[in-house]
Amino acid sequence: MAREVRITVVGSGYVGLVAAVCFAELGHKVTCVDNDQRKVEELRAGHTPIHEEHLEELLGKHRGKGLSFDTNLHESAKQAEAIFIAVGTPQGEDGDADMSYVEAVACELARSLEHYTVITEKSTVPVFTNEWIRKVIERNGGERELFDVTSNPEFLREGTAVSDFLHPDRIVVGADAARAGEVMRAIYEPLTSGAYYQRKDAIPGGCSAAKTPPLLETSTKAAEMIKHASNAFLAMKISFINAVSNLCESVDTDVEQVAKGVGLDARIGPRFLKPGIGYGGSCFPKDIAAFRAVAEQEGLDFGLLTEVEKINTAQKRRFVGKVRSTLWTLRGKKLAVLGLAFKGGTDDIRESPAIDLCKMLLEEGCKLTAYDPAAMERAKHELPAGEKMHYAAGVMEAVKGADAVLLLTEWPEFAKLDLDAVHKAVRYPIVIDGRNLYEPEVMAAHGFTYLSMGRPPVYPAKSAHGAEKKK
Ligand code: NAD
Repeated sequence: MAREVRITVVGSGYVGLVAAVCFAELGHKVTCVDNDQRKVEELRAGHTPIHEEHLEELLGKHRGKGLSFDTNLHESAKQAEAIFIAVGTPQGEDGDADMSYVEAVACELARSLEHYTVITEKSTVPVFTNEWIRKVIERNGGERELFDVTSNPEFLREGTAVSDFLHPDRIVVGADAARAGEVMRAIYEPLTSGAYYQRKDAIPGGCSAAKTPPLLETSTKAAEMIKHASNAFLAMKISFINAVSNLCESVDTDVEQVAKGVGLDARIGPRFLKPGIGYGGSCFPKDIAAFRAVAEQEGLDFGLLTEVEKINTAQKRRFVGKVRSTLWTLRGKKLAVLGLAFKGGTDDIRESPAIDLCKMLLEEGCKLTAYDPAAMERAKHELPAGEKMHYAAGVMEAVKGADAVLLLTEWPEFAKLDLDAVHKAVRYPIVIDGRNLYEPEVMAAHGFTYLSMGRPPVYPAKSAHGAEKKK
């Protein structure tokens, strides 16, 4: 039978806020705590600081009922049965994870424990973090019998975070104490029993009452390793297909056909075999570095991860090379940039390859006009508007008079452009697509010179290569 658990989530970022809102959706009593006063006020007023499908809807449904927001961790933690730590774990100076935010939370929790509480790492953390959290709490006066530390890594993807959380492929719970495992099972029971999926108001997704997500119970250390190993493997898959894509370009064949043939092998699978401008975001780059740092600390050389990173970095230079080879020179060229977020469906620009590419092109002397459906406000902090950097209110404004159009983020609307209107608006009908959003023949038929990733370039259907100048 489902029971209500009193939960505190520390951190109201992409993971903490989504987790808090979804735990409330599962019927628990949740307080989401952040030390950013402005964020908390915004959330109390019903505004979500991040762009995620279903988030606003669920916030509206539960705010003031099962879900509240606070800056006071001490007060909230005193009443909680389970505390999820979801603060940032950015990359430290040597590539290892900077655990200072987690440590600060652990110190604060030490003085808040009044009854048995399960403290859970939701943030992505290196193996052994659970032991450090325990030590820090004990050193700061927390009584050992009043808490256990568990690991419950989060696998949600930005852009589909809410439905990923409520319809996960698996729930991993690393708990070394049976008592802590029981609390964690109770929290996820509405999902694992299928009760949530029978509700008429359930957020739709891949799970159902007949197909419930498995809850995998492991040791705490194994759960910590699972998260790092999963992200490292996914990044490796991306770098692998990017390396194959470059080879396809050399031998003049289509990587999409190759990826399809490879991905149909059930042992490999088709997902994450999409060539592009490299992975980015707040997770893969730092998690790969942190996982390698863990190996180094253990005296092991995980050189495979170094290669994964090398391919990823080279992919951006390769894209700039494509732009240069198409336009001959870059200085003074006016480029339309479609997409700034690190992937479609999010406003997150952390480690976005699109932002890196903009910086590289600005350094080469290009003039950019960028448009992104959600990420422009955040992008303006990284790429301030100025003489060479412009922001447009829409696609058509961005492409007007452009020497070339660059597709850098896989937003669905960028895959459905009015190609005739774009052709009319640009100075030269050249599209360089870092996300393979179009079929080359379609672009050629619409009169574009079209370069994409791992596929032969195509040129306007009825004209010779040089006939692309319009005005
Ligand atoms: P984020 O930067 O968006 O949010 C972190 C939040 O924690 C911020 O709002 C910050 O103000 C708050 N915070 C920091 N210190 C605090 C403290 N002492 N007390 C209260 N609040 C505090 O980060 P995120 O993207 O949500 O990532 C959080 C963790 O989850 C990271 O370890 C990340 O690797 C992991 N993760 C992220 C994703 C993702 O897609 N973003 C997916 C899976 C796992």
